[in-house]
Amino acid sequence: MQAESRRREYLKALDIDCYTLRNGETAPGDEPVTDATDPADSVGWDDLRAQVAACTQCALHQTRTQTVFGVGSADADWMIIGEAPGQEEDRRGEPFVGRAGKLLDEMLMSLGLSRDRVFIANILKCRPPNNRDPHADEAASCRSYLERQIDLVAPRIILAVGRIAAQHLLASDAPVGRLRGSVHALPDRQLPVVVTYHPAYLLRSPTQKRKSWQDLVLARRVLRERL
Ligand code: SF4
Repeated sequence: MQAESRRREYLKALDIDCYTLRNGETAPGDEPVTDATDPADSVGWDDLRAQVAACTQCALHQTRTQTVFGVGSADADWMIIGEAPGQEEDRRGEPFVGRAGKLLDEMLMSLGLSRDRVFIANILKCRPPNNRDPHADEAASCRSYLERQIDLVAPRIILAVGRIAAQHLLASDAPVGRLRGSVHALPDRQLPVVVTYHPAYLLRSPTQKRKSWQDLVLARRVLRERL
């Protein structure tokens, strides 16, 4: 009951009317969690983490404080992919922190999920100076790390958060407004991708939160169809 009441609070924070799970339905992500650093699964993850930490494949290594590898469950059904670390992420080494991260957490909680039940990563593992958009060559250099993360997690659904993530993942130049609202396939993987707004954008444009909630509901429906 406590969890349900918390979920309702998070829905309220998103300006979303509360919904009720049908009898016996379990919110996605209620499965047992395996930590990404679990020694039993450590070989692939450790190697990848070390490669990323030492990476100098693009010029961003010169200006980063540290790489931002990603966080969450190593076998999550949901993979959340954003753009690149910002100032705070670069400082703390974790994606989606600060106000936008808090809103992302609220979006996840509205689905009955939490940060440790999904896997969160970015297109780029290093912060672009002044939070500029990633350059195409930087994204290309970093792509193999993200691809390996997708291999290892083997998610059932990807939520692409924001324009940069959506456009890079889907090899599209369409705006988020056109990409959201339908189910895409990650090229070469047959893995469903749902696009939604970046929480930083939602903080600036709170009236779009409702559309973001619709995107989450769409993603949840797609996931359930794949279970
Ligand atoms: S952004 Fe990616 S490719 Fe560029 S240095 Fe960082 S980890 Fe390497």
